[in-house]
Amino acid sequence: MSDNEFVYADNAATTRPDPEVVKAMEPYCTAKYGNSASQYYEMGRQARMALDEAREKLAALIGAKPEEVYFTAGATESDNWVLHSTVLTGKKKHVVTTAIEHHAVLEPLEFLKENGYGDYTVLPVDSVGRVDPEELGKAIREDTGLVSIMHANNEIGTIEPIRELAAIAKEKKVAFHTDACQTVGKIKVDVDELAVDMLSLSAHKFHGPKGIGALYLRRGTRLAPFIHGGGQENNRRAGTSNVPGAVGMGKAAELAPRYIEDGPRQRKLIEEIWKGVSSAIPKIRRNGDPESRIPNLLSVCAEGAEGEAILGYLNMSGIQVSSGSACTSGSLEPSHVLLACGVPVEIAHGSIRVSLSHENTDADARKIVAEMPKVVARLREMSVTWKG
Ligand code: PLP
Repeated sequence: MSDNEFVYADNAATTRPDPEVVKAMEPYCTAKYGNSASQYYEMGRQARMALDEAREKLAALIGAKPEEVYFTAGATESDNWVLHSTVLTGKKKHVVTTAIEHHAVLEPLEFLKENGYGDYTVLPVDSVGRVDPEELGKAIREDTGLVSIMHANNEIGTIEPIRELAAIAKEKKVAFHTDACQTVGKIKVDVDELAVDMLSLSAHKFHGPKGIGALYLRRGTRLAPFIHGGGQENNRRAGTSNVPGAVGMGKAAELAPRYIEDGPRQRKLIEEIWKGVSSAIPKIRRNGDPESRIPNLLSVCAEGAEGEAILGYLNMSGIQVSSGSACTSGSLEPSHVLLACGVPVEIAHGSIRVSLSHENTDADARKIVAEMPKVVARLREMSVTWKG
């Protein structure tokens, strides 16, 4: 199991920092605390070298050049940077996105629209969460400056046909951005294979530290700075560099091929969990694309049981999973992702997301299969509306 006492299966929300990541960061939190912008003395130069090395490791993981990688405070900042800068300073202020994006994309777009700076079109998805490339072609207008479509969805795990979608945008001379938070470190991500102009990622999703991420910006892509101040990150993202965070993310990037290699084993565990819970729980459905999906995630809806209640009982049984995304699981609103896939509201309320990492074991899967049916049955017994 992930730990002696509990099963942690909420790796789409965040992952455990790899012990090697923590070890690599430690000297930059203690003895080597120099400011990477202070180049006239040893400790500053040491920090700068560490930052450069981390950038190289991250670039290597995604097939980019180091000078195309900009450190940020996480994927939320990277997404906001792309959207704000495009809409506020670009000539073309219309953005095309999808109904299942993370709030880090949908909220800035709504903010920009509400305040009169731009406009956006939301593409629908099919019942498994896939965007139709033809729909993208139709949605791009004369004033479209950007297409932003996530690589894999954080709630249902569906992988979007990014290469095909990016090709459509390119043909129409529109920049293409993807939020790859849920794929970097899980499956191979290569910016040239995907043919994207911009890509957001976050270290804590692949065993790095929290509070650091990056934006990949293809050479030649125009994007004004979002955070203004000092000249860090080649004058494109101001603020004293988070050297320990970058070192941690660099280490995680170096280790990521190991995590990716473990993907097929996690996929097998996910299938075993689905087989177990679907044979023990009547009226349970699986969400997301059965084929085009990340290997570590299972999303299900159990009719007649509230997702939050299931989580509470599973937690008492020593299992930590989530319903939908971590950002919305505090609210009782049904997931916008499931609704966009056409899941009825009352069923969307019973959603559970199990997301694994290389640390999860067969015993973890067995425990989930043993406990989830008991919890769902208990809640259905208590329900006044459940009719079996
Ligand atoms: N985008 C997606 C798809 C995510 O899953 C997340 C994490 O929840 C984010 C953005 C936000 O990332 P961060 O925590 O680095 O701001």
